[in-house]
Amino acid sequence: MSKIIVAGGGHGGIAAAALMAKSGLDVTVYEKNSGDNMGYDWTDIFAPESLELIGLGLPDEDLFEYKTDMTFYSTNEKIAIKQDVPPDELEIKMERRDIYKYIIDYAVKCGVQFQYGYTIQAPIIEGNRVVGIKTDKGDVYGDLIIDACGCNSPVRSGLPKNWRIQNTTRKNEKFYVYRAFYNKIDGALAEDKYKVCLLPEGITGIGWVASEEEYTDLLIGRFRPFDIDEANRTADVFRSKNPTLGTELVRGGQFVEIPVRQPLSLMVCDGYAAIGDSAFMTVPIIGSGIANSFRAAKILAETVIADKTGEFKGEALWNYQYNFYKKLGSGLAPLAVVKLLLTKLKPEQLDYIFEKGILTSKEMTITANSTSFMDFFHFSPDLPMRGLSILKDKDLLANMLWAGKTMASVVGICAKIPKKYEKAKVISWAWKYDQLFR
Ligand SMILES: Cc1cc2nc3c(=O)[nH]c(=O)nc-3n(C[C@H](O)[C@H](O)[C@H](O)COP(=O)(O)OP(=O)(O)OC[C@H]3O[C@@H](n4cnc5c(N)ncnc54)[C@H](O)[C@@H]3O)c2cc1C
Repeated sequence: MSKIIVAGGGHGGIAAAALMAKSGLDVTVYEKNSGDNMGYDWTDIFAPESLELIGLGLPDEDLFEYKTDMTFYSTNEKIAIKQDVPPDELEIKMERRDIYKYIIDYAVKCGVQFQYGYTIQAPIIEGNRVVGIKTDKGDVYGDLIIDACGCNSPVRSGLPKNWRIQNTTRKNEKFYVYRAFYNKIDGALAEDKYKVCLLPEGITGIGWVASEEEYTDLLIGRFRPFDIDEANRTADVFRSKNPTLGTELVRGGQFVEIPVRQPLSLMVCDGYAAIGDSAFMTVPIIGSGIANSFRAAKILAETVIADKTGEFKGEALWNYQYNFYKKLGSGLAPLAVVKLLLTKLKPEQLDYIFEKGILTSKEMTITANSTSFMDFFHFSPDLPMRGLSILKDKDLLANMLWAGKTMASVVGICAKIPKKYEKAKVISWAWKYDQLFR
């Protein structure tokens, strides 16, 4: 029987492992953490329907709650724009450790083996094929390596450059995040329960302050690394405007990275497929990747199960990438252009956009369910007035025109993804796709 290795216990890797093991395949997950230390000490928001795709229903009611609408602010914090997520699209909020427990218990029931405490160092390559992983406990060989090691995967990074699978991220493709839960100040009231600040302090990035019952959740994100002194300074700035945010660290307090970019242009080759953050499957504007990892897991598992040769060549695995792009990737990739646009905006331009109503609650109702750039555009009777406001700022107009043109090109190239795997064609397609985001 074919031996399938999932490198790293990413959400999509575990979910795909469960579906593959259920169909009788021999699947083992290799993960650096111990089983009781998976994930982070904080909560996550994701679309509950994605669980159904991997054969799971909603978890017990005491394990989740429905997410509160976010309220967005630009740099000067003069105008607030509140999301208005329709009830049938509400996402759920769960402890990350509970999400992991839920999917791991399921995967174990499906027959997946877990090997904890293995730090993966690199792929093992023979000829044109990935045949295994190097770990701190020795080499492990398999017929297919599923890379679920996250944004900085040592498996993807170790692939030969001439295979054209992008090894590392480029500028503005990764978000450096500090997230911590602080005590909630007794008696203090939050103006908005879930406040998201865009370009806070004029720095390209975001910050949020979510006032929960027992603590206040702070996230600081930038497009460059920063240290604890800078995080503490910024936290003090947030404290001065958000009375619920205390100084006592209750949970979290870690630095982490999230890919915020277009999905990988080539995510398969002989013996290898990337999933989740390893393949950059997050919603590029907001960094949510759990639901998309589950959605991709279903597509990957179906592809692997359908390959009765057990050879898992690039040709067969290409169906996974093709179907991923048709169902998800072609909607996510243009959103990466919106993210690039945000990195080009000056704080005063963002303030102007908020003040002139160019962005409305409709556009800000972007959720982890937003897998199409059309989710970002809404036609309304005041559209001409909004357009006129853009025309008045030449620099903003130039940026908007660039974004519109680039998005159209991205949509065009995604529509032309080759259906069949012919190496030269696939590499040429990937090159053209990558060029659009430079
Ligand atoms: C602060 C923060 C908040 C977020 N909030 C949300 C949210 O609310 N909703 C949402 O949908 N998404 C959220 N995300 C994004 C989400 O975490 C990812 O998109 C999602 O988990 C998919 O990533 P992954 O599981 O593929 O990779 P990861 O979460 O990075 O998991 C990779 C796994 O591989 C293991 N691993 C890594 N390297 C090695 C190695 N060398 N050897 C062995 N094992 C290894 C890791 O220990 C980990 O278990 C957030 C991310 C961060 C950082």
